[in-house]
Formats: sequence, structure tokens, C-alpha cells
Amino acid sequence: MNAIRPIRTPVELSEAGLVGPEERAGIEAVAERYAVAISPAMARLIDRNDPNDPIARQFVPDAAELTILPEERADPIGDLPHSPVEGIVHRYPDRVLLKAVHVCPVYCRFCFRREMVGPQGLGTLSPDAMDRAFAYIAGHPEIWEVILTGGDPLVLAPRRLAEIMERLAAIDHVKIVRFHTRVPVVEPERIDDALIAALTASGKTAYVALHANHPRELTDDARTACARLVDSGIVMISQSVLLKGVNDDPDTLAALMRAFVETRVKPYYLHHPDLAPGTSHFRLTIEEGRALVAGLRGRISGLCQPTYILDIPGGHGKAVIGPDAIRGTEGCYSVSDYRGREHAYPPEK
Ligand SMILES: *Cc1c(COP(=O)(O)O)cnc(C)c1O
Ligand code: SF4
Repeated sequence: MNAIRPIRTPVELSEAGLVGPEERAGIEAVAERYAVAISPAMARLIDRNDPNDPIARQFVPDAAELTILPEERADPIGDLPHSPVEGIVHRYPDRVLLKAVHVCPVYCRFCFRREMVGPQGLGTLSPDAMDRAFAYIAGHPEIWEVILTGGDPLVLAPRRLAEIMERLAAIDHVKIVRFHTRVPVVEPERIDDALIAALTASGKTAYVALHANHPRELTDDARTACARLVDSGIVMISQSVLLKGVNDDPDTLAALMRAFVETRVKPYYLHHPDLAPGTSHFRLTIEEGRALVAGLRGRISGLCQPTYILDIPGGHGKAVIGPDAIRGTEGCYSVSDYRGREHAYPPEK
């Protein structure tokens, strides 16, 4: 239980009591296709007595991943058509993704980039590819924000991160550097002075978007790691995936959003699950998602409200798909309050 290394193989999953003998064959087949890793902090968090444990469901492979539906695709959000040079995805004019690394400290079973991440994935950008990526950013003055994602950029050594930040510091038109990461939750011990110094050294405004999906992930250690980041001047926002069997009920979602706010992480996006291969057991319908999101309004503070997002398959970008509060046309709208009651706008005299 006090493992210090991540669990990575079917044998280690069995030894850790996370898969039974009857499941082994299915898990072996899954592990041949998709990367597996459960960090020590997450392995400790799993309740082995709960067959529906929401932490296990996110990280322990399941034979259901072998079921691939026709609508599922290897590149569900269309990164490839928008990649002008290796490591860069430029979909919106003012911001790019910089994917410096394709490994993660955990592998989420619902990962939208599951065909690209992992030890057999796209790996780390070579020094030459890195040079080309920075040249691309420097050559496009419309790029205001660089979003480091992957993979998980905070697995890079502080020395490597500092180098990336220094290179971005030299590009005047880049004002914001954003990191998308799970590290403060799944490997909180990594958030140390060296890492924080690397993230803040450039003088650019730094944002960290924390990926977490269940309130239990916000452990004391995770909250301490976030406090270090926020105290250093970094702004934190959240991103979560709405997942069947993990957080698809009103109490869990409310508790998750409150846990973020308590930790000084502003809820940002709640993603509808992408059409990644072998993930249909995690998907709920858009209607179910909208009902859950509508239920958060009024029930919990406005600070706790995330924006419900669908990444349109094929690379068309993100759309806000939350419930519509208002219907009708100018002069005669009907607007629903947080209890679901309808009101005319403008009101009848
Ligand atoms: C999601 C995404 C972004 C970030 O979108 P925001 O709405 O700014 O959070 C930027 N570029 C690409 C290619 C993306 O997929
Ligand atoms: S941390 Fe992100 S990129 Fe890595 S496996 Fe999870 S969802 Fe995929």
C-alpha cells in the first residue's frame, strides 16, 4: 500500500489487489493497446472494498476498453489537421498548444489522446523539433497564449521547464503561458520549490489548469500542492471530464466544484467525454449532461459553476453546450430560473 513506484503492468495491478484473476486476460489485452500507470498517491486513494470506486474506474484498465464503436476515432478532437509543425496545434488564432511531452504520471482510461500518449506514444519532442516549434511561435505575432499540454508537461524536470519558460520569455507577443496538468493531484510531491521557480521565472503570466474528476482527488497533499502554486502567483483553473460512474451525479459534481473553489482553483471547463476509442462505458448522453449542469445552478455558489464543453469531432474546436436558460425572440423571451420555473422577459405588466 505504501508503494513508491507507479503501477504499470497487469502483474503489478494483480499484486496491488486491483484486478482479480478472472479479469487478467482482458486486462492483458488492454495493456497491449493502451498505456497503463497509476501513481502511488492514486493507488493509495483507491478503496479496494468498493467495486465501483471512482478513482479505480479512472485508472484501472477494464476489458470494456476493447469495445470500439464506429463513431469513435483515434484523433477525436482533430489535433492532426491543425498541426503546422510537430508539437504545435494551432486551431484558434490567438493561442497554440505546445505538446512537448507525451507521457503522464497516470493514464486515464478515458483519455482523449490515448492513441498518442504513453511509452509507445509520440514521445518527447527532439531538440530540433523544439527549435521548429519555438520558431513557429516566434514567427506568428497573433499568438498571445501558449498552452503546454501533452501528455502532462509537469512531468518534465524543472531544468527542462525553466528552459521552455526562458525561450517563451524571449517572445514578446506571448503574454500568457498555461499548463494543463494532473500532477498536483496525482503526484503532489513534484510541486516543489524547483518546479515553482521554473514556472514563475519567465515573468509571463502563468496559469495552471488542474485536471481532476472526483472530490476525493483533492486530498490534503493535493490541496497543499495547489496552495504552493497559488501562493507563488500562479492562477489556477480546473478542468474535469463528465464521466459515467465517476462524477455523473449532482452531489459528486457539486462536491468536486466546491473542493476546487476551496483550494483556490476556479472551475473552468467540464468536458463532455470525447469519442476516444474504447471509452463508450464512460459516456453519458448530452441530455444527461445538460440536466446535471442545470442542477448546479442555484444549488452551489456562482464561483463553483463550470462551463459545459463539447470538443467538436474533426478539429472544429470547442462549443459551450450547457442548458439554455432563455428561449424565444427579442421582446418575448421565456427565461427559466434555477428551480426550473419559467418567467417572461420583459415581464408582463
Ligand atoms: C482546447 C484547446 C485550446 C484551449 O481552448 P480554451 O477555450 O482557450 O481553453 C486551444 N487550442 C486547442 C487546439 C485546443 O484544443
Ligand atoms: S493526464 Fe491527460 S493526457 Fe494524460 S492520460 Fe490523463 S487525460 Fe490523457
